[in-house]
Amino acid sequence: MRINTNYQNLEQSYLFANINRKVAEFTAANPDKSIIRMGIGDVTLPLVPVVVEALHKGVDEMSKKETFHGYGPEQGYDFLRQRVKEYYEKIGVQIDLNEIFISDGAKSDVGNILDLFDKDNTVLVPDPVYPVYVDTNTMDGRKIVFMEANEANGFLPLPDEGVQADIIYLCSPNNPTGAVYNREQLKAWVDYANKQQAIILFDSAYESFVATEDLPRSIFEIEGARTCAIEFCSLSKTAGFTGTRCGYTVVPKDLGPLNTMWLRRQTTKFNGVSYIVQRGAAEVFTDEGIRQTRENLAYYMRNAKVIADTLDELGIWYTGGQNSPYIWLKCPNGMKSWDFFDFLLEKAGIVGTPGAGFGTQGEGYFRLTAFGNYENTVEAMRRLKELL
Ligand code: PLP
Repeated sequence: MRINTNYQNLEQSYLFANINRKVAEFTAANPDKSIIRMGIGDVTLPLVPVVVEALHKGVDEMSKKETFHGYGPEQGYDFLRQRVKEYYEKIGVQIDLNEIFISDGAKSDVGNILDLFDKDNTVLVPDPVYPVYVDTNTMDGRKIVFMEANEANGFLPLPDEGVQADIIYLCSPNNPTGAVYNREQLKAWVDYANKQQAIILFDSAYESFVATEDLPRSIFEIEGARTCAIEFCSLSKTAGFTGTRCGYTVVPKDLGPLNTMWLRRQTTKFNGVSYIVQRGAAEVFTDEGIRQTRENLAYYMRNAKVIADTLDELGIWYTGGQNSPYIWLKCPNGMKSWDFFDFLLEKAGIVGTPGAGFGTQGEGYFRLTAFGNYENTVEAMRRLKELL
């Protein structure tokens, strides 16, 4: 037996462990100081009523012989895939039912899709980045090329014709930067990918936060994307499913063999998402489900606005905060990410996430999130104003 030695090339991630250690040390030394966590990457509001009701019904069905469900279709039940198809139609995107694959979330599919690609492909990822793209390719031993996201390009890097790539990761609205590509920018990526015969792995886990008219929520809104893109989507942030687990991936048939390869991969290695969860998920896409989940999103976006307004007042440069639950700010006075972390924790009791933890280009930046509660967000921003 020989192990996969590529695992030895994974960088240890100390980011959240370090944050937790520093916060624990601070609270032990200052038990009376109140701490506000603005680094949460998880939702905090519960599932909406229509989803909860459907989940209960699903459990009841499973309890009776006549309505019990055993193994389901690996691609997901048609009742849910049909709803996903209609959800896309609302933004003018036509996809076939057989192009939709229901999953237990975007993270699994983003990692698993790599089964379809040769290990010799070159991978292009932005820096800073959601670490899963880098780690999953490192595990397979693929060559990774980084593209710089920075203040000059608004943390939205565009294709460089001089760079050859086979697999390209794009995430919009972005984690960690909150930046969102517009149509023109995505078109540039689609044209580049088609020219290079590359594939874009498009992570749209935060699509439901896009509120600005005319910003794309799906890469399939862009002409030419069907021949070069796979899209990963999730109910995690859209509908608070981080603990319930459900997502969907769209693999167009225009991608040659990839649609049937993914079907084969899923039918071989995956046995589908639970019937009960899919019943709950289907409600997310009804008119009432959309209305209720949008209320939760509006709550988070009110927090985001409080943060963005404060940074505007303080004259601090940032991306996100609009169309995204993340706010990516430039540390004041040229401070480094971890120095700003310590400064905020010690002087204001605010915990955020140092940008350096997401890549070398994240140094000097800092991520705040809008997933906390409103009163705490207001209080944190009051403290920030007082401090700066
Ligand atoms: N993609 C991005 C960019 C994320 O930030 C996250 C979660 O934080 C995911 C995917 C994972 O989503 P899921 O919960 O559906 O696995």
